Amino acid sequence: MSSSIGPLVGAVDQGTSSSRFLIFSAKNAELVTYHQTEIKQFYPKEGWVEEDPMEILESVKTCMNKAVDNLKALNLSAQDIKCIGITNQRETTVVWDKITGEPLYNAIVWLDLRTSSTVDKLISKTPQKDKDYLRPLCGLPITTYFSAVKLRWLLDNSEKVATAAAEGRCLFGTVDSWLLWNLTGGKEGGQHITDVTNASRTMLMNIQDLKWDNKLCQFFDINQSMLPEIRSSAETYGHLFDGPLKALPISGILGDQQAALVGQLCLKPGQAKNTYGTGCFLLMNTGLELVHSNNGLLTTVGYKLGPNKPVVYALEGAIAIAGACVRWLRDNLGIIKTSEEIETLASKVESTSGCYFVPAFSGLFCPYWQNDARGIICGLSQFTTKEHIARAALEAVCFQTRELLEAMNQDSGIPLKSIQVDGGMTANNLLMQLQADLMGINVVRPSMPETTALGAAMAAGHAIGVWNLDNDETKVTTDLYTSSITEKERDDRFCRWKQAVQRSMHWIP
Ligand code: ADP
Repeated sequence: MSSSIGPLVGAVDQGTSSSRFLIFSAKNAELVTYHQTEIKQFYPKEGWVEEDPMEILESVKTCMNKAVDNLKALNLSAQDIKCIGITNQRETTVVWDKITGEPLYNAIVWLDLRTSSTVDKLISKTPQKDKDYLRPLCGLPITTYFSAVKLRWLLDNSEKVATAAAEGRCLFGTVDSWLLWNLTGGKEGGQHITDVTNASRTMLMNIQDLKWDNKLCQFFDINQSMLPEIRSSAETYGHLFDGPLKALPISGILGDQQAALVGQLCLKPGQAKNTYGTGCFLLMNTGLELVHSNNGLLTTVGYKLGPNKPVVYALEGAIAIAGACVRWLRDNLGIIKTSEEIETLASKVESTSGCYFVPAFSGLFCPYWQNDARGIICGLSQFTTKEHIARAALEAVCFQTRELLEAMNQDSGIPLKSIQVDGGMTANNLLMQLQADLMGINVVRPSMPETTALGAAMAAGHAIGVWNLDNDETKVTTDLYTSSITEKERDDRFCRWKQAVQRSMHWIP
């Protein structure tokens, strides 16, 4: 007979690089078991990044099955799992046929740049040719990043999508909606729903009243009938249709960065976390106050933990390329065989020896919003080795984070004294030390790194009453990194970084 360790909560964590299913104990927030599989990315043209929605869905189902098998191997009962939550790569856009259930196009990944000319056209429609024209309504600038722009491109460029839309068969969703619809039955009654955090990344939701906005939908010329229903981040949306957890409620949805904010317990205004995955995302809880940025940051929904709970806002700094640069060094240059190897390689030298690497593969996000920037490695000499380049790639993540921190400090008026970190890259101890050095504030890493999935599990458990987030007493153990260099050295290196950034700008004619 299997034993019980109290109620368990499952979390689907569908990221850009991989899918995971994790099972947590609701009693002490401990990770009991998980399964993970990497996701393929397709680059059909320069600047294009796609994933296969069916592979995303199948990988999630495989991870669920395998994690449940692991649980049984631990002699624990799957019946103790009370609900599941979903957290997902945000903005990535999926369109599918509600009659057949088939995707109408590959998922266009958030990093994708194909919409550059769509962006130019949209900006030229605004009275002052201003990319920030829609910020008062949705908190976001008009750039390639957000879903409405990708959806507009699909409707304009894929006949299959345009026809399905004209015939009322086309559904749009971010990855949360695609998964939820399928996991709750798909064409046989699947729920077409998204949560406020994911909806806040589309540019179609009004950030104050949390509804699809007529003016925004008109601006992008998008028919609201293809959009999912917007709900809170913690409530029961539907039940699993089949598989080993059949009939379990799905009761939490949070975009991955917002999930990490919750999982790191940044539930008070002024608390902030930085997640280092494919990209890098610094979010600060601004409480009930909606703060508009003057420094290139995004205003976004942090969470709304129940239909009748207040909405909590966040300021966000987004970097497009962080871990993706490590993956590039692995897959495109082959100077490492695994992502982890970058730490050993970069540790073989004590500095980058004047080498700076700006990985603007997808342009530059915060605070620059330059679609036409491209990657640059500068300061090379005959002395430069792959070790220096590897170290410069890690430092690039840290310099970009410092830029976010400076913007955040200016917008919020409250300088951060320390920052909580998580994400796949934070396993890299050298990166953590470089981050403390180059930012000059403390870096605090929880010993349980799966805070994104934890946030989704917390929201799901909270919705059905097995996890009390209003009074969360979870004790978190952490590792602390403090700066070991002088302020002068930090500022000199940052100044050189900024020069390198200037050289990466306006590369595309
Ligand atoms: P996502 O949620 O965006 O899918 P993850 O949090 O799973 O990303 O992190 C995966 C990313 O982190 C990959 O881009 C990978 O190259 C990078 N990464 C993983 N481990 C390390 C490491 N030890 N050092 C540096 N980068 C790493």
